[in-house]
Order: sequence, then C-alpha cells, then structure tokens
Amino acid sequence: MEDGLVNRKRRMCRPARLAGCFFAAALPLAAQGIPQSSAPTTARALAIGDTAELAREANVWLTQLIQINTTNPPGNEQAAAKYVAGILAREGITPEILEVMPGRSAVVARLRSSAISDPARALLLVAHMDVVGAERSRWSVDPFGAVIKDGYIYGRGALDDKSMLAANLAAIVGLKRANARLNRDVIFLATDDEEGGGEASIKTLIAKNWDKFAAGFAINEGGEVVMKGGKVQYVAVQASEKVAVNVAVVAKGTAGHASVPTKDNAVVHLAAAIEKIGNYSAPVHFTAIVRRYFEGLAAISDDEIGKWMRSLETSDRGEHAQRVISDTNPQWGAMMRDSIAPTMLNAGVRPNVIPGEARAILNIRLLPGDTIDALLSELRKLVNDPQVRLEVQPNGGLAAPPSSLESDFYAAISKVAAEEFAGAPVLPYQSTWATDSAQLRLHNVQAYGLWPFPVTDEDLKRMHGDDERISMASFNKGVEVLARIVSEFAVAK
Ligand SMILES: [Zn+2]
Repeated sequence: MEDGLVNRKRRMCRPARLAGCFFAAALPLAAQGIPQSSAPTTARALAIGDTAELAREANVWLTQLIQINTTNPPGNEQAAAKYVAGILAREGITPEILEVMPGRSAVVARLRSSAISDPARALLLVAHMDVVGAERSRWSVDPFGAVIKDGYIYGRGALDDKSMLAANLAAIVGLKRANARLNRDVIFLATDDEEGGGEASIKTLIAKNWDKFAAGFAINEGGEVVMKGGKVQYVAVQASEKVAVNVAVVAKGTAGHASVPTKDNAVVHLAAAIEKIGNYSAPVHFTAIVRRYFEGLAAISDDEIGKWMRSLETSDRGEHAQRVISDTNPQWGAMMRDSIAPTMLNAGVRPNVIPGEARAILNIRLLPGDTIDALLSELRKLVNDPQVRLEVQPNGGLAAPPSSLESDFYAAISKVAAEEFAGAPVLPYQSTWATDSAQLRLHNVQAYGLWPFPVTDEDLKRMHGDDERISMASFNKGVEVLARIVSEFAVAK
C-alpha cells in the first residue's frame, strides 16, 4: 500500500530545478510534527541572519554534496572538498584544502574573533565528507541522485553526514554574512575517511595539522533529536562513545582429506567457540553519562519501562531490569556493557579438503574505561579450547575521556535544544558507535555529538542502510537549530 502511495505522489527533482520544486516538495513543518521555533526572530536575525533563507541554500548544498560520490573506500573526498571550499570562498571565508593523501582532502576555514586566536576558547564545527557504500539494486532511487520525493531528500549521506556538513556550512556562512561579533573563533572542518578510520582519517589530520583547527569545544555528529509519534521525544547529546576493537578468532587443526573426518577439524572448533562467544553477555556497568541518560528517559517513558529504568541499579531487581531494558531495545543493552558481534567467517579452499585453519572476526565495542585484555581473558576462559586463539587486530579505537556535562557549551546546546523543541528533555548520551569526537576528546576538546535534525527511528535505521533519506522539513529545522547553537555560544552578547 505504501508503494502505491509513493508511486502516485512521486515527484522527482533534479538539482538544476531544485530551487523551483523545493517548496512544492517540502511539507510544512507542522504537518510533519516538527515544532517551529518560538524564539524571537529579531534576536536571531541579528546574530545569524535569516535562518530560513540559509536553510533554503543549505538544501541545494546538501543535494549537490550527495551527488558527489564519496563512497569510502576509496573516498575521493577531494571533489567534495573543492565544492565546499568554493562555497566558503564565495562568502569571503578563506578555505584551506588540506591534502591528507592523494585524492583525499579535508577543508578547514576560520572566522576570527580577534587578531590573536585563543585555541582553548575556539569552537570547531566538524562533519565528514565520506559516506559508506550503497547497494544500488536495493535502493528504490539512485543513491547518488539526491532524488526528492514526498518531502524527503534521498541519497547516501542524506543523514550521515552530509546533512551535518551542509548545516555547519550554513552556520559559518550565516555568521559571516551577519558580520557577527564573535567572542571566540569559529572553525569549520570537513573531514575525510571517517567511515574507514584509516590512514586518511582525523588521526592523521590532527597529527599533521592540529594548529589549523585546535579548539576547546566542538560539535559533531553522534547524538540525535529523537522523534516519535510526530513529536520530539528527547534530544540526546553525545558526550562519550564506546570504543571499537576487532578481534580475530583463529582455530587451528590438522588439514586433510575430507573423506576421513578428524576430531580436531578447525571449522568445528571455530564454530563451537563462536557459539559460546555469541551467547555470552558481558557484565553490566553504568558510566555517569548512561546513568543520567536512563534517569532522564525514565521520566518520559511509559510507566512500565520507566519503572524498569529506575530499577536498573537496585540490588533486588537490577538484574531483571537490565534484562527487560536490553530486550526492549538492544541499543540500550549495548549502552550498559561491552558488546561482541561476530561479523566475519573464513575457512576452507575446497569442498573436499579439511582446512588447517578457520578464522572469524569479532567486532567488539568496549565501554569507555574497560580494557580489551580483561574482556579477552574472560572469553578465553569461556572458549576453553587450546586449538583456538584470540588475537587483537591493529587500529583499534582509543578510549577517550567523556566530555564534561558542566561546560558552557553543553549548557548552550541544552538551552537552545530545549527552546527549539518545545521543552523536550536534553539528555547526555554515550553512543554505541564511534565518531571523530573520540580523537578530539583525546586532545582536550569538549566535543559533543548532535545531528540537529529531528529523526524517527525508522529513518535512523536507513543510515548505512538502503534508501537513506532526510525529511526536508527536518533538515531545515536542523539548520536553524545548529545556527542558533553556534550563535548562542560564539556571538558576543
Ligand atoms: Zn557519520
């Protein structure tokens, strides 16, 4: 039924015609349940100019950024970097393209508050230009067409992270056009290789160019404005993240002719080990951020779930509560313990040959503060098989200290978010996924994650999946919210 509706109403816009069909395609904010700002428009106009006009332009930027294919690997972010630099240059903001590796670049630009920069006060706006791959045959539209239909822009990167990139651009352009008097430098940074996290990632950028974007505060992807039933339920501001580590499980056995099965078959030993690991649940513990998250969420959840959230750390009902909460939402479960997901299996060369080795990969996400060694010693005891080894793979994530929930920037984000989303609670959030913010936090940056766009769970699931999309009303709202957050924190009062 939904398909029929989509086909009947299908309305596609190519970017050349974007400006013309933008209004026709976008549903009014109210119709999508997205609250419109109640803040006085005059104050906002003074600080950052006309945010509605900015949002209109940002729509075009988002569309064109989606059309620049930055699938990583190989990334090819240089094309997007040139596009972004062009927009900045046209606005009189001098961009610098930082070549990280051949074909892979980042862009940095700065609005100064005074002749001498104070990096400890500076605010960094971060977004990445690369996207994960798209399986074309599973999409209903061209993943790089930036097709507009039924009030949505479809395309790889529509959410992750080109929407944020366009919103960051709008914020710095808005400040520049309004000739805002800043109380701190505002730095724009478009990164590459976030999805790969390899040689061209922010780690390298920091190592080579830290002086160009050193800051005390940052806003990046990672947290969400959660919509449910047409209403913003709460705003989750990422202040910490779990740490990704890959571990290989290697089983060894005697290779031989498959007509004579052996007890030490590596495939069998690997399978047994994976079954044990797959059923293992690491012990629960609560970081301060997760504790505050559940406290806040309990207050707006239905009675039953709220009750279990409040019982998570009680001695008598805690264990049961943890089970109920984890079963209700697997992401909640992953927020309170180290998680282990077997993701790859590899064994055998011929149907009739018993291989001498079988391997699997576990993608492990550690709670901040936990160590891989402690978890692996538990897993070794569990597997208890001399034929099976666990090997930590290189390039694991690094644990970073959480960002403070007492900083002025966290307060500014909370204030604007509460105003813009009709008093919805603002909760600190520890994401199960990794972002560039961990690297920034390791360099003493108070980095916070917030996609400012109201998004439903259903749309969020399309991120890294098929038919990724963003509602245009939500995008416009997010552009305004981000511009206001930046203005609240960086414009002199
Ligand atoms: Zn991302």
